[in-house]
Amino acid sequence: MVTIVVDQFRYDYLTRLRGEFHGGFHRLLTSGAVFSNANYIHVPTVTAVGHSTILTGATPSVSGIVGNDWYDPEEHRHVTSVSDGRTSIVGGAGEGSSPHRMLVSTVGDELKMADAGRSRVIGISLKDRAAILPAGHSANAAYWFDIANGSFVTSSYYMKTLPPWVQAFNDGHPANRYRGRTWLQHTLPQDPARLYSALEASPFANELLEQFAERAIEAEQLGKRDVPDLLCISFSANDYVGHTYGTYSPEQRQVTLETDLALDRLFASIDRAVGLDNALIVLTGDHGVAPSAADDAANHMPGGNMPGNAVRDVVQAALEKAYGPGNWVVGSWDLALYLNQDLIAQKKLDPTAVNRTAAAAAFAVPHILRVYTRDQLAAGAVSGDQLSRRVENGFHVRRSADIEFIPDPYWMFSGAVATHGTPFDYDSHVPVIFMGSGIKPGRYDASVTVNDIAPTLATILEVETPSGSVGRVLTEMW
Ligand SMILES: [Zn+2]
Repeated sequence: MVTIVVDQFRYDYLTRLRGEFHGGFHRLLTSGAVFSNANYIHVPTVTAVGHSTILTGATPSVSGIVGNDWYDPEEHRHVTSVSDGRTSIVGGAGEGSSPHRMLVSTVGDELKMADAGRSRVIGISLKDRAAILPAGHSANAAYWFDIANGSFVTSSYYMKTLPPWVQAFNDGHPANRYRGRTWLQHTLPQDPARLYSALEASPFANELLEQFAERAIEAEQLGKRDVPDLLCISFSANDYVGHTYGTYSPEQRQVTLETDLALDRLFASIDRAVGLDNALIVLTGDHGVAPSAADDAANHMPGGNMPGNAVRDVVQAALEKAYGPGNWVVGSWDLALYLNQDLIAQKKLDPTAVNRTAAAAAFAVPHILRVYTRDQLAAGAVSGDQLSRRVENGFHVRRSADIEFIPDPYWMFSGAVATHGTPFDYDSHVPVIFMGSGIKPGRYDASVTVNDIAPTLATILEVETPSGSVGRVLTEMW
């Protein structure tokens, strides 16, 4: 079983470029069950949250993965969805990562519990969170690309040393082959210190990842025993390209067409290894993206870009004015603000009143549609419309921010050319495609959720549904 995530992949990338696909996307669209209206039902629609949903079926309100990053009030520090100070990088240097902040099981975890750990479960991606979260707690390994050394690395959470096949792959310095290579009008740097991050924002990174996936399939002998194995692949280059160049850019088109070819090579390698008919393939995206401000302007669309710190700065100023000087906002990520609870306690202020002051200030920022306080969300005191439901699904009482806001549609608060995170469909609408024996090919237009993938896979595998799943089984495709 192979799950494929394309990072920042709107459903309309498939329809807009349909006539130009001759590889993996073409095969999926002709031989797969294509769900044309699959959405995420949470905010923020960002990488860690998307990846934690796909194989758990859970929303952040239960999974605890509330963003790529958040402020942990107990640790008094910024944490990432996978940061883990008890682990170290294997194959590189620095603090390692693990799935320990994810509070629910994945399909792979259930598979392993059902067969006493005999199934092999492996996650691979350029990004640590995109390799770790889909694979789950009991995965054999998660590997990702370390831009510090241009190699694939893992964490001491999984193992003490890299397996020989990963070491051998790294020893060939495959990333260095892309020095000076060009795509469209862009040339990759010669200098390794700059090469690896530039490589990530090019189609070559997906090519590299696909080669690594082929090696994993061969070396780990995936799919060759009497129990199912699970390989979770996440292609990240599309996200870096989208943020840098925008949704409608030639670069986005190019990386999508190159992904089509990379998937073709991946499917060919699966066919050689076990026969494509013996594999179940699932493809989705982890979130979509908004048009760039330039695209909005060119198309007379209401929308655009505001400075990333616009809301934070206004809230900080309002709290200073109301309560005196201090560092009032201790964290700001993905349309959410964490206020300084220590300072609030020290000044003997009522947190609910401080939140109300902050929310009123945030509301005054142009292009803010909604503001939610932690008190409102914890009490369920919000309107029951789709936007609020998605905010509630993203709210975890011990981890979420004090203030959450939603911009007007097509408005972004970001330094990037384009970004994502909102509950609107351009950020939540992604492909969901299943392909394999027993799956009835065709287009399925009814609304489904990405949360439906996990219970569907658990049903096919005849294992228990992952612990936090809220999805339904997509029985219409068999
Ligand atoms: Zn992403």
